[in-house]
Amino acid sequence: MRQALTNFSPEDLCRWLKNLGIETFEGTTGLIFPVSSNSEKLLTLWMESLVSNKNFHFHPDHRLVNIENGLLFFENRNQTITLKAPLVIMGMGGASYPATGSDGRWRNLLGSIGIKTIPFKPMNCGFECSWSPFFKKTINHSALKNIKLTLGNQSVRGEAMITSYGLEGGPFYRLSREIRDSIELNGKAITFLDLTPDLSLNEVIQKLNHERGKNSISNHLRKQLKLSKSKIYLLREVTEKSIFNDFPLLAQTIKNLSVTLERPRPIEEAISSSGGVSFKELDKYFMIKKYPGWFTAGEMVAWEAPTGGYLLQGCFSTAYMAVEGIKKL
Ligand SMILES: Cc1cc2nc3c(=O)[nH]c(=O)nc-3n(C[C@H](O)[C@H](O)[C@H](O)COP(=O)(O)OP(=O)(O)OC[C@H]3O[C@@H](n4cnc5c(N)ncnc54)[C@H](O)[C@@H]3O)c2cc1C
Repeated sequence: MRQALTNFSPEDLCRWLKNLGIETFEGTTGLIFPVSSNSEKLLTLWMESLVSNKNFHFHPDHRLVNIENGLLFFENRNQTITLKAPLVIMGMGGASYPATGSDGRWRNLLGSIGIKTIPFKPMNCGFECSWSPFFKKTINHSALKNIKLTLGNQSVRGEAMITSYGLEGGPFYRLSREIRDSIELNGKAITFLDLTPDLSLNEVIQKLNHERGKNSISNHLRKQLKLSKSKIYLLREVTEKSIFNDFPLLAQTIKNLSVTLERPRPIEEAISSSGGVSFKELDKYFMIKKYPGWFTAGEMVAWEAPTGGYLLQGCFSTAYMAVEGIKKL
Protein backbone atom coordinates (compact mmCIF):
# COMPACT_ATOMS: atom_id res chain seq x y z
CA MET A 1 0.00 0.00 0.00
CA ARG A 2 2.85 2.36 0.83
CA GLN A 3 4.17 2.13 -2.72
CA ALA A 4 0.69 2.59 -4.19
CA LEU A 5 0.07 5.65 -2.02
CA THR A 6 3.43 7.09 -3.06
CA ASN A 7 2.95 6.41 -6.77
CA PHE A 8 -0.54 7.94 -6.75
CA SER A 9 -0.56 10.28 -3.78
CA PRO A 10 -3.23 12.60 -2.35
CA GLU A 11 -1.57 15.40 -4.39
CA ASP A 12 -2.00 13.31 -7.56
CA LEU A 13 -5.65 12.75 -6.68
CA CYS A 14 -6.16 16.53 -6.26
CA ARG A 15 -4.43 17.11 -9.62
CA TRP A 16 -6.64 14.51 -11.28
CA LEU A 17 -9.73 16.20 -9.82
CA LYS A 18 -8.48 19.62 -10.99
CA ASN A 19 -8.04 18.26 -14.52
CA LEU A 20 -11.66 17.14 -14.40
CA GLY A 21 -12.66 20.66 -13.34
CA ILE A 22 -13.09 19.98 -9.60
CA GLU A 23 -11.23 22.34 -7.27
CA THR A 24 -10.27 21.11 -3.78
CA PHE A 25 -9.34 22.78 -0.51
CA GLU A 26 -7.70 21.72 2.73
CA GLY A 27 -9.98 21.82 5.77
CA THR A 28 -8.82 22.86 9.25
CA THR A 29 -8.18 19.21 10.17
CA GLY A 30 -5.88 18.73 7.17
CA LEU A 31 -8.43 16.65 5.25
CA ILE A 32 -9.02 17.56 1.60
CA PHE A 33 -12.51 18.37 0.32
CA PRO A 34 -13.93 19.27 -3.08
CA VAL A 35 -15.01 22.94 -3.11
CA SER A 36 -18.43 21.85 -4.30
CA SER A 37 -19.57 18.74 -2.44
CA ASN A 38 -21.75 17.65 -5.35
CA SER A 39 -20.69 14.07 -6.08
CA GLU A 40 -23.08 13.86 -9.03
CA LYS A 41 -21.18 16.65 -10.79
CA LEU A 42 -17.90 14.82 -10.23
CA LEU A 43 -19.35 11.62 -11.63
CA THR A 44 -20.76 13.42 -14.69
CA LEU A 45 -17.43 15.10 -15.45
CA TRP A 46 -15.59 11.79 -14.96
CA MET A 47 -17.96 9.95 -17.30
CA GLU A 48 -17.65 12.72 -19.91
CA SER A 49 -13.90 12.38 -19.78
CA LEU A 50 -14.13 8.58 -20.14
CA VAL A 51 -16.59 8.54 -23.05
CA SER A 52 -14.46 11.07 -24.92
CA ASN A 53 -12.20 8.07 -25.56
CA LYS A 54 -13.73 6.20 -28.49
CA ASN A 55 -12.46 2.86 -27.13
CA PHE A 56 -14.35 3.24 -23.87
CA HIS A 57 -17.48 1.12 -23.42
CA PHE A 58 -19.54 1.06 -20.28
CA HIS A 59 -21.76 -1.93 -19.46
CA PRO A 60 -23.58 -1.27 -16.20
CA ASP A 61 -25.66 -3.96 -14.44
CA HIS A 62 -23.41 -6.81 -15.49
CA ARG A 63 -22.68 -9.09 -12.57
CA LEU A 64 -19.74 -11.45 -12.54
CA VAL A 65 -21.36 -14.73 -11.47
CA ASN A 66 -18.84 -17.39 -12.38
CA ILE A 67 -15.21 -17.93 -13.37
CA GLU A 68 -14.33 -21.20 -15.07
CA ASN A 69 -11.49 -22.34 -17.30
CA GLY A 70 -10.23 -18.77 -17.57
CA LEU A 71 -13.64 -17.52 -18.72
CA LEU A 72 -15.67 -14.82 -16.98
CA PHE A 73 -19.46 -15.24 -16.87
CA PHE A 74 -21.60 -12.15 -16.42
CA GLU A 75 -25.33 -11.93 -15.86
CA ASN A 76 -27.37 -9.09 -17.26
CA ARG A 77 -31.19 -9.27 -17.15
CA ASN A 78 -31.35 -13.08 -17.27
CA GLN A 79 -28.78 -13.18 -20.02
CA THR A 80 -25.40 -14.75 -19.47
CA ILE A 81 -22.44 -13.21 -21.25
CA THR A 82 -19.18 -15.14 -21.43
CA LEU A 83 -15.90 -13.31 -21.85
CA LYS A 84 -12.35 -14.41 -22.36
CA ALA A 85 -10.39 -11.43 -21.13
CA PRO A 86 -6.59 -11.49 -21.00
CA LEU A 87 -6.49 -8.20 -19.07
CA VAL A 88 -8.92 -7.57 -16.23
CA ILE A 89 -9.05 -5.12 -13.33
CA MET A 90 -11.55 -6.30 -10.74
CA GLY A 91 -13.00 -3.59 -8.50
CA MET A 92 -15.93 -5.32 -6.83
CA GLY A 93 -15.67 -3.54 -3.50
CA GLY A 94 -15.98 -4.85 0.05
CA ALA A 95 -19.00 -6.27 1.86
CA SER A 96 -20.48 -3.32 3.71
CA TYR A 97 -23.58 -1.44 2.51
CA PRO A 98 -24.65 -4.31 0.19
CA ALA A 99 -27.56 -2.17 -1.06
CA THR A 100 -24.96 -0.33 -3.17
CA GLY A 101 -24.19 -3.59 -4.99
CA SER A 102 -21.01 -4.39 -3.09
CA ASP A 103 -22.11 -7.58 -1.36
CA GLY A 104 -18.72 -9.32 -1.24
CA ARG A 105 -20.11 -12.50 -2.83
CA TRP A 106 -17.19 -12.46 -5.23
CA ARG A 107 -15.14 -14.02 -2.40
CA ASN A 108 -16.72 -17.38 -3.23
CA LEU A 109 -15.93 -16.89 -6.94
CA LEU A 110 -12.28 -16.14 -6.32
CA GLY A 111 -12.10 -18.88 -3.69
CA SER A 112 -13.39 -21.36 -6.27
CA ILE A 113 -10.41 -20.64 -8.51
CA GLY A 114 -7.85 -20.98 -5.71
CA ILE A 115 -7.39 -17.35 -4.68
CA LYS A 116 -6.99 -16.93 -0.93
CA THR A 117 -9.20 -14.28 0.61
CA ILE A 118 -9.61 -13.07 4.19
CA PRO A 119 -13.15 -13.12 5.65
CA PHE A 120 -14.87 -9.73 5.80
CA LYS A 121 -15.39 -7.90 9.07
CA PRO A 122 -17.08 -4.58 9.75
CA MET A 123 -14.80 -1.53 9.83
CA ASN A 124 -15.70 2.13 10.42
CA CYS A 125 -18.80 0.99 12.27
CA GLY A 126 -20.86 1.66 15.37
CA PHE A 127 -20.66 -0.49 18.52
CA GLU A 128 -23.35 -1.91 20.76
CA CYS A 129 -23.68 -1.29 24.51
CA SER A 130 -26.24 -2.56 27.03
CA TRP A 131 -28.22 0.64 27.59
CA SER A 132 -31.09 0.67 30.06
CA PRO A 133 -34.58 0.86 28.45
CA PHE A 134 -35.01 4.41 29.83
CA PHE A 135 -31.71 5.61 28.34
CA LYS A 136 -32.43 3.96 25.00
CA LYS A 137 -35.73 5.74 24.74
CA THR A 138 -34.61 9.14 25.98
CA ILE A 139 -31.28 9.58 24.30
CA ASN A 140 -31.54 8.02 20.86
CA HIS A 141 -29.46 9.96 18.32
CA SER A 142 -27.90 12.59 20.54
CA ALA A 143 -24.55 14.09 19.68
CA LEU A 144 -21.61 13.80 22.06
CA LYS A 145 -19.60 16.81 20.93
CA ASN A 146 -15.94 17.28 21.75
CA ILE A 147 -14.98 14.04 23.46
CA LYS A 148 -11.77 12.05 23.57
CA LEU A 149 -12.09 8.30 23.13
CA THR A 150 -9.32 6.07 24.50
CA LEU A 151 -8.70 2.37 24.00
CA GLY A 152 -5.42 1.05 25.38
CA ASN A 153 -2.75 3.60 24.49
CA GLN A 154 -4.66 5.13 21.57
CA SER A 155 -6.85 8.22 21.87
CA VAL A 156 -8.94 10.08 19.30
CA ARG A 157 -10.83 13.33 19.72
CA GLY A 158 -14.01 14.18 17.88
CA GLU A 159 -17.76 14.02 17.89
CA ALA A 160 -19.72 10.81 18.50
CA MET A 161 -23.36 9.89 18.50
CA ILE A 162 -25.38 8.01 21.13
CA THR A 163 -27.86 5.72 19.42
CA SER A 164 -30.46 3.31 20.76
CA TYR A 165 -27.98 0.44 20.33
CA GLY A 166 -24.74 2.06 21.46
CA LEU A 167 -22.18 4.52 20.16
CA GLU A 168 -21.13 5.57 16.69
CA GLY A 169 -19.19 8.34 14.95
CA GLY A 170 -15.72 9.62 14.06
CA PRO A 171 -13.64 8.54 17.09
CA PHE A 172 -15.30 5.09 17.12
CA TYR A 173 -14.70 4.67 13.37
CA ARG A 174 -11.10 5.73 13.82
CA LEU A 175 -10.47 3.04 16.46
CA SER A 176 -12.92 0.53 14.99
CA ARG A 177 -10.32 -2.07 14.10
CA GLU A 178 -8.77 -1.98 17.58
CA ILE A 179 -12.19 -2.03 19.30
CA ARG A 180 -13.43 -4.87 17.07
CA ASP A 181 -10.29 -6.93 17.67
CA SER A 182 -10.46 -6.33 21.43
CA ILE A 183 -14.08 -7.57 21.46
CA GLU A 184 -13.05 -10.65 19.49
CA LEU A 185 -10.26 -11.36 21.95
CA ASN A 186 -11.91 -10.47 25.27
CA GLY A 187 -15.64 -10.63 24.57
CA LYS A 188 -15.86 -6.87 25.14
CA ALA A 189 -13.86 -3.67 24.74
CA ILE A 190 -13.49 -1.31 27.67
CA THR A 191 -13.13 2.20 26.32
CA PHE A 192 -12.74 5.49 28.19
CA LEU A 193 -14.35 8.79 27.30
CA ASP A 194 -13.00 12.16 28.35
CA LEU A 195 -16.07 14.39 28.39
CA THR A 196 -14.04 17.59 28.89
CA PRO A 197 -10.84 17.10 26.86
CA ASP A 198 -10.02 20.83 26.98
CA LEU A 199 -9.90 20.88 30.80
CA SER A 200 -7.36 19.22 33.08
CA LEU A 201 -8.51 17.07 36.00
CA ASN A 202 -7.62 19.90 38.40
CA GLU A 203 -9.61 22.42 36.40
CA VAL A 204 -12.62 20.10 36.47
CA ILE A 205 -12.29 19.71 40.27
CA GLN A 206 -11.95 23.48 40.72
CA LYS A 207 -15.02 24.17 38.62
CA LEU A 208 -17.04 21.52 40.44
CA ASN A 209 -16.07 23.14 43.75
CA HIS A 210 -17.58 26.48 42.70
CA GLU A 211 -20.57 27.60 44.76
CA ARG A 212 -23.50 25.46 43.62
CA GLY A 213 -26.31 27.46 45.26
CA LYS A 214 -29.72 25.99 44.61
CA ASN A 215 -28.66 24.42 41.31
CA SER A 216 -29.38 20.73 40.80
CA ILE A 217 -26.25 18.67 40.17
CA SER A 218 -27.17 18.48 36.45
CA ASN A 219 -27.44 22.27 36.26
CA HIS A 220 -24.17 22.62 38.14
CA LEU A 221 -22.44 20.34 35.61
CA ARG A 222 -24.01 22.22 32.73
CA LYS A 223 -23.10 25.67 34.06
CA GLN A 224 -19.62 24.96 35.39
CA LEU A 225 -18.34 22.41 32.88
CA LYS A 226 -20.64 23.17 29.93
CA LEU A 227 -21.61 19.47 29.88
CA SER A 228 -24.40 18.86 27.40
CA LYS A 229 -27.59 17.03 28.30
CA SER A 230 -26.39 13.93 26.44
CA LYS A 231 -23.07 13.87 28.33
CA ILE A 232 -24.88 14.18 31.67
CA TYR A 233 -27.35 11.43 30.72
CA LEU A 234 -24.48 9.17 29.67
CA LEU A 235 -22.65 9.88 32.91
CA ARG A 236 -25.76 8.89 34.87
CA GLU A 237 -26.30 5.80 32.70
CA VAL A 238 -22.90 4.21 33.19
CA THR A 239 -22.04 5.23 36.77
CA GLU A 240 -23.39 4.82 40.31
CA LYS A 241 -25.56 7.60 41.76
CA SER A 242 -23.18 8.00 44.71
CA ILE A 243 -20.36 9.50 42.57
CA PHE A 244 -22.38 12.71 42.20
CA ASN A 245 -21.80 13.43 45.91
CA ASP A 246 -18.05 12.94 45.66
CA PHE A 247 -16.59 15.73 43.49
CA PRO A 248 -13.01 14.44 43.19
CA LEU A 249 -14.37 11.05 42.08
CA LEU A 250 -16.94 12.72 39.81
CA ALA A 251 -14.17 14.79 38.20
CA GLN A 252 -12.08 11.67 37.61
CA THR A 253 -15.08 9.92 36.08
CA ILE A 254 -15.83 12.86 33.78
CA LYS A 255 -12.23 12.74 32.57
CA ASN A 256 -12.16 8.94 32.27
CA LEU A 257 -15.65 7.55 31.84
CA SER A 258 -15.54 3.80 31.30
CA VAL A 259 -17.92 2.56 28.60
CA THR A 260 -18.05 -1.12 27.69
CA LEU A 261 -18.64 -1.96 24.03
CA GLU A 262 -20.03 -5.42 23.40
CA ARG A 263 -20.40 -5.96 19.66
CA PRO A 264 -19.72 -4.18 16.39
CA ARG A 265 -22.85 -3.34 14.40
CA PRO A 266 -23.56 -5.71 11.48
CA ILE A 267 -21.34 -5.39 8.43
CA GLU A 268 -24.36 -4.25 6.38
CA GLU A 269 -24.32 -0.98 8.36
CA ALA A 270 -20.56 -0.46 8.39
CA ILE A 271 -18.99 2.21 6.19
CA SER A 272 -16.32 -0.20 5.01
CA SER A 273 -15.07 -3.72 5.57
CA SER A 274 -11.78 -5.35 6.46
CA GLY A 275 -10.78 -8.49 4.61
CA GLY A 276 -10.75 -9.39 0.94
CA VAL A 277 -8.04 -10.63 -1.42
CA SER A 278 -4.94 -11.51 0.57
CA PHE A 279 -1.79 -9.53 -0.27
CA LYS A 280 0.00 -12.89 -0.50
CA GLU A 281 -1.91 -13.54 -3.73
CA LEU A 282 -0.85 -10.25 -5.32
CA ASP A 283 2.27 -8.70 -6.78
CA LYS A 284 3.17 -5.05 -6.19
CA TYR A 285 0.82 -4.00 -9.02
CA PHE A 286 -2.07 -5.85 -7.33
CA MET A 287 -1.94 -8.48 -10.08
CA ILE A 288 -3.15 -11.93 -9.02
CA LYS A 289 0.03 -13.99 -9.23
CA LYS A 290 -1.83 -17.18 -10.20
CA TYR A 291 -3.67 -15.37 -13.02
CA PRO A 292 -1.20 -13.04 -14.76
CA GLY A 293 -3.13 -10.23 -16.44
CA TRP A 294 -5.92 -10.19 -13.85
CA PHE A 295 -5.64 -7.34 -11.38
CA THR A 296 -7.56 -6.22 -8.31
CA ALA A 297 -8.14 -2.72 -6.96
CA GLY A 298 -10.02 -0.87 -4.25
CA GLU A 299 -11.71 -2.20 -1.17
CA MET A 300 -11.76 -5.79 -2.42
CA VAL A 301 -8.09 -6.03 -1.46
CA ALA A 302 -7.39 -6.79 2.22
CA TRP A 303 -6.22 -3.36 3.38
CA GLU A 304 -8.21 -1.13 5.67
CA ALA A 305 -8.35 2.54 6.54
CA PRO A 306 -10.40 4.97 8.59
CA THR A 307 -13.05 6.96 6.78
CA GLY A 308 -12.26 10.58 5.92
CA GLY A 309 -10.96 10.18 2.38
CA TYR A 310 -8.36 7.54 3.25
CA LEU A 311 -10.52 4.76 1.81
CA LEU A 312 -11.14 6.59 -1.44
CA GLN A 313 -7.45 7.47 -1.72
CA GLY A 314 -6.57 3.79 -1.23
CA CYS A 315 -9.01 2.80 -3.97
CA PHE A 316 -7.60 5.33 -6.45
CA SER A 317 -3.99 4.44 -5.61
CA THR A 318 -4.51 0.68 -6.01
CA ALA A 319 -6.38 1.22 -9.30
CA TYR A 320 -3.50 3.41 -10.52
CA MET A 321 -1.03 0.64 -9.68
CA ALA A 322 -3.13 -1.92 -11.55
CA VAL A 323 -3.04 0.25 -14.68
CA GLU A 324 0.71 0.72 -14.30
CA GLY A 325 0.98 -3.08 -14.01
CA ILE A 326 -0.99 -3.56 -17.23
CA LYS A 327 1.25 -1.07 -19.04
CA LYS A 328 4.29 -3.08 -17.95
CA LEU A 329 3.00 -6.44 -19.23
C1 LIG B 1 -22.11 5.49 3.69
C2 LIG B 1 -20.67 5.49 3.26
C3 LIG B 1 -19.89 6.60 3.48
C4 LIG B 1 -18.54 6.60 3.10
N1 LIG B 1 -17.78 7.71 3.34
C5 LIG B 1 -16.50 7.72 2.98
C6 LIG B 1 -15.68 8.86 3.22
O1 LIG B 1 -16.13 9.89 3.74
N2 LIG B 1 -14.38 8.81 2.82
C7 LIG B 1 -13.82 7.69 2.25
O2 LIG B 1 -12.65 7.68 1.92
N3 LIG B 1 -14.58 6.61 2.01
C8 LIG B 1 -15.89 6.59 2.36
N4 LIG B 1 -16.64 5.48 2.13
C9 LIG B 1 -15.99 4.26 1.59
C10 LIG B 1 -15.79 4.33 0.09
O3 LIG B 1 -17.00 4.73 -0.51
C11 LIG B 1 -15.38 2.93 -0.39
O4 LIG B 1 -14.22 2.50 0.28
C12 LIG B 1 -15.11 2.93 -1.89
O5 LIG B 1 -16.27 3.34 -2.59
C13 LIG B 1 -14.74 1.53 -2.37
O6 LIG B 1 -14.54 1.62 -3.74
P1 LIG B 1 -14.45 0.31 -4.64
O7 LIG B 1 -14.41 0.78 -6.04
O8 LIG B 1 -13.40 -0.57 -4.13
O9 LIG B 1 -15.83 -0.43 -4.36
P2 LIG B 1 -17.31 0.07 -4.51
O10 LIG B 1 -17.40 1.57 -4.55
O11 LIG B 1 -18.05 -0.65 -3.45
O12 LIG B 1 -17.73 -0.45 -5.94
C14 LIG B 1 -17.75 -1.82 -6.23
C15 LIG B 1 -18.69 -2.05 -7.39
O13 LIG B 1 -18.57 -3.42 -7.79
C16 LIG B 1 -19.88 -3.90 -8.02
N5 LIG B 1 -19.88 -5.36 -7.84
C17 LIG B 1 -19.84 -6.09 -6.70
N6 LIG B 1 -19.85 -7.40 -6.96
C18 LIG B 1 -19.88 -7.52 -8.32
C19 LIG B 1 -19.93 -8.62 -9.21
N7 LIG B 1 -19.94 -9.87 -8.78
N8 LIG B 1 -19.96 -8.36 -10.54
C20 LIG B 1 -19.96 -7.09 -11.01
N9 LIG B 1 -19.92 -6.00 -10.22
C21 LIG B 1 -19.89 -6.21 -8.88
C22 LIG B 1 -20.77 -3.18 -7.04
O14 LIG B 1 -22.09 -3.18 -7.50
C23 LIG B 1 -20.15 -1.79 -7.05
O15 LIG B 1 -20.72 -0.98 -8.04
C24 LIG B 1 -17.99 5.46 2.48
C25 LIG B 1 -18.79 4.33 2.24
C26 LIG B 1 -20.11 4.35 2.64
C27 LIG B 1 -20.95 3.11 2.38
